[in-house]
Amino acid sequence: EVRMSEWVDRVLPSPTAALESTVAKLQREGQTVHRLGLGQPDFPTPDRAKQAAIQAIEDNFTGYTDTGGILSLRQAVCDSLRKEMNLSYEPDQIVVSAGGKQALFNAICTLCREGDEVLIPIPYWVSFPEQVKFAGGKPIFVPTLPEQGYKTTPETLAPYVNESTRILILNHPNNPSGAVYSTRELLELAAFCQRNNLWVISDEVYSTFVFTPEKFTSIAAFPGMKERTVVINAVSKSYSMTGWRIGYAAAPQAVAQAMLRLQSHTTSNPSSIAQKAALAAIVGPQNEMEPIHNEYLARRDYFVEAVRGLQGLECLVPDGAFYVWVDASYWCGRKLLGRMIHSSDDLAAALLQEAGVAVMPGTGFGSPTHLRLSFAVSRSELESGIAAMEAILGLK
Ligand code: PLP
Repeated sequence: EVRMSEWVDRVLPSPTAALESTVAKLQREGQTVHRLGLGQPDFPTPDRAKQAAIQAIEDNFTGYTDTGGILSLRQAVCDSLRKEMNLSYEPDQIVVSAGGKQALFNAICTLCREGDEVLIPIPYWVSFPEQVKFAGGKPIFVPTLPEQGYKTTPETLAPYVNESTRILILNHPNNPSGAVYSTRELLELAAFCQRNNLWVISDEVYSTFVFTPEKFTSIAAFPGMKERTVVINAVSKSYSMTGWRIGYAAAPQAVAQAMLRLQSHTTSNPSSIAQKAALAAIVGPQNEMEPIHNEYLARRDYFVEAVRGLQGLECLVPDGAFYVWVDASYWCGRKLLGRMIHSSDDLAAALLQEAGVAVMPGTGFGSPTHLRLSFAVSRSELESGIAAMEAILGLK
């Protein structure tokens, strides 16, 4: 056995990446797979972004750039944060990274000391606890209730706070639950963080996927919060650019400069070509995304009804992101096609093997009785996935 570092020993493989590779393998073997598990938009990258990347190559814009991203992109991020979120940052407070994931990693490694406790409301995105563990911190999982829309509150967080608690990771809109916080709820959380002297890492990569009439608000926008918040966002989901790997962090200057230092010794700048594409996406006309937004909304409404019709599956209507967080506890402890189902991992395996439907078990998101389904796929894919699930689960 190879003796490896304690750092790498601390982290588990990413279950979302594992599902992606299982599905790809089944498809290579010629199997039909209904992909309802993965978190990536099926719409193409906007043309203006593609053209900007082609132009960048033709202009030989192919060398290293500033570690934290080209100034024009950091400036565009500042302009967009000001316009969309009422947040005012300077370009030297922005660090552009290889996706939101690296931006988060930089933020967690910068803020978290060995032994620091980090509050992570359940359900959470799979990488939060792994990155915290990698950084030497201790993930503290805080349950939420479906009656409260799976949202965290000062009352539920308070018992988990002690003198080692340093950070709250807020993912809003939430992957996997789709929870969107109201202004009032954010204000209460903001006051809580100030009272307890906590940093907030606010993962806002789904900020453009909000289906309520209330506009998205960042927790950083409340008085006194910008100083203790690192805002994370990316072009990945909002502009259908997951493969381009461009995300960013906006932070108080000292934190931004420390993240930059870390990045300067790991990846350096993210791809120069992808940066030009992201710039074009961010500065271009934003209303182009409106029909796409409406399509997501229509898919959500169809999908939630259809999922609720299936035997043993319950879900709330997600207000944001593009996932449905399905309570499948009915199936846990029952048999399905002669297989004993202990947890949603078994259920997901049965759905994949018996029905050719790929869904994410909730275990990696903090709940072994839930499934995460995604409606970032075409209507026909949703319909055929539902039909395949119905064939083995049955209707209510
Ligand atoms: N944060 C959340 C909540 C996500 O769901 C994802 C991607 O699935 C990311 C961050 C990472 O995004 P990126 O592809 O930009 O690294």
